[in-house]
Amino acid sequence: MNMLVTEKFATAPSADDESNLRSGNRQLVRIVLAGHVDHGKSTLIGRLLHETKSLPDGKLDSLKAVSARRGVAFEWSFLLDALQTERDQGITLDTSQIRFRTKSRDVVLIDAPGHAEFLRNMITGAAQADAAVLVIDATEGVREQTRRHCYLLHLLGISQVAVVINKMDRIGFDESRFQELEAEMARHLASLGLPATAIIPISARNGDGVERRTPAIAWYSGPTVLEVMDRFSPAKRLTDLPLSIPVQAVYKFDDRRIVAGRVETGRLAVGDEIAIMPRGTTARVQSIEAWPEPGQARPQAARAGQSIGITLDRQIFVERGDIISAPATPAKAVRRLRARVFWLHDEPLELGAAIGVRVGMAERRGTIALIENAVDPGELSPIEAKIIARNHVGEIEIALAAPIAADIYADNPRTGRLVLELGGRIAGGGLILAVDGNASADNRRHSGAGRAELSVRAARLNVELADLPAVERLKRFREEVAGPLVFTTSFGLEDQVIVQMICEAGIDLDIVTLDTGRLFPETYQVWAETERRYGRRIRAIYPQHNKLEALVGKYGIDGFYESREARLACCHARKVEPLDRALSGAQGWIVGVRADQSGNRQGTALVAVDARHLLKLSPLLDWTRDKAQSFAADNQIPVNTLHAQGFASIGCAPCTRAIAPGEPERAGRWWWETDEQKECGLHISSDGRVIGAAKG
Ligand code: SF4
Repeated sequence: MNMLVTEKFATAPSADDESNLRSGNRQLVRIVLAGHVDHGKSTLIGRLLHETKSLPDGKLDSLKAVSARRGVAFEWSFLLDALQTERDQGITLDTSQIRFRTKSRDVVLIDAPGHAEFLRNMITGAAQADAAVLVIDATEGVREQTRRHCYLLHLLGISQVAVVINKMDRIGFDESRFQELEAEMARHLASLGLPATAIIPISARNGDGVERRTPAIAWYSGPTVLEVMDRFSPAKRLTDLPLSIPVQAVYKFDDRRIVAGRVETGRLAVGDEIAIMPRGTTARVQSIEAWPEPGQARPQAARAGQSIGITLDRQIFVERGDIISAPATPAKAVRRLRARVFWLHDEPLELGAAIGVRVGMAERRGTIALIENAVDPGELSPIEAKIIARNHVGEIEIALAAPIAADIYADNPRTGRLVLELGGRIAGGGLILAVDGNASADNRRHSGAGRAELSVRAARLNVELADLPAVERLKRFREEVAGPLVFTTSFGLEDQVIVQMICEAGIDLDIVTLDTGRLFPETYQVWAETERRYGRRIRAIYPQHNKLEALVGKYGIDGFYESREARLACCHARKVEPLDRALSGAQGWIVGVRADQSGNRQGTALVAVDARHLLKLSPLLDWTRDKAQSFAADNQIPVNTLHAQGFASIGCAPCTRAIAPGEPERAGRWWWETDEQKECGLHISSDGRVIGAAKG
């Protein structure tokens, strides 16, 4: 059996069709039919189509006539076979779904012949079910296969389940036998957290319990199969879900900046306030743009299913991959998420694997931080493995290299999904179960500590390290941080002092630099000299090629001279995103900040908790520039020759200049900006504030 499509539902529904189908008073409910192939699913489907008058005129009579001519008793399953044959001849259409109407609902019945395939389709988003009907043969009772189907429903998070005990005619409509099976199924479903909506005695072949309570089951007072289908709650309409517009592109058109994307869920109107996630910035919708049509005014509102462009009432940074939400129900800004995934790649998914993660239009790098509950769909029972093999299901936690905007599947089934990539190929897909603070206790265990706990440790370290020499601070910090530790250098004076201490003391950590592609030649020289002197590799993190292409395409190669928005975008592509990657998976971070470099660094703590959930040490925080210079001279440390030319700090060539005598140290960074805005984009929060502490 595969499907029937009646004329009135001649094509598979798109999201738009669904909203049309759901319009008016009729609602659409998607129901998966689970159960062993021999327990009467095909018979039940045939009976349902007949009882709801969904069959083509004359179809039933002609099949009965054919059966009579061949001398065989008519079976409802012949109906499906016949329709299947017609489908193969191209007469009807195939979507592996069966559609019919009950009194108050449009029903899409999804058959699950191979549960592995169905599981994959559900988890990757190719199919969705709001409820399930589980078919059990009364003569065979509850078998291992039945338990597996229950587990499948549990895995998919389907909470509305009706059980039909079929073939009651074969056991003489025995009420006590039904009650035994009813009690057994109710217990089993409850143990999986799935209370049964109804358990119904039926004979699909004779029609008892399908549309009517017949005299044969007079002792049964619960709903019939069609009545229970009318009781299932449909999924919420897409327009009733919170607003979600994944940004596809930002275009410059005339003097307008148009943010384009598809309204996946919810509604939007001119004048609405919106939140741009994961940045957390807000703006108002100034206009909804559309190609002008004669006599038509500009649209004032849009709803789920429409692709739109909008302009905003203020200049804020927005890029492809951001999600536009309502401020009251924003998508979550996520650095770590938990998902149930179906894995398709030949190579098993392993702990620590580096993968690509796509949520909506956004793409991030991520590391697999946890694997649990791996399941072989062929067996539908958990397997003890810390890998997820091809065509298996499992739960994973992913530590992302940079924040992403995401919804939880339970909140928004349309957008709470992700796609996984390995080696540039789609390798799996899944449902987002939890994010950051909502993730499991295991999340906290594996990430080292919760934020409150980290704050306590940072406070303790601030006391312990305060009076230690800088090198001892580094050693003590290394002891304290159990996992990977990263030192980021831009080859300035302070960074060179710290590199000397790290290398001389043999401290085990990763030394990393962000090669923005716009560094001074002098910086590359001191980089090479430092590697030679200490015999140690300094790892370069480069911007992502596609991000640079997009940046240069939009603003030009030197676009950062033109506007602050272009500078922020440039820093984002060349510094912010690469830094997130550099720190991905780290538990601690070391930077060469001094408190007296600028006013906004005065309040920096020796050890702080970074927004990325890691401990951050500034071992030279209380040093002066003179002290650093003396240390460098005494230890013959290679120093960037730009310092001798008046450069106080080392950054990108176009954005850094020598400072005039008497100017403050940061005067040479983003030198055309006003005093309060001189830090580069690495030190600017998503809401535009200049923040201290990081070393750029
Ligand atoms: Fe671009 Fe200047 Fe930022 Fe470097 S400092 S990334 S060149 S805007």
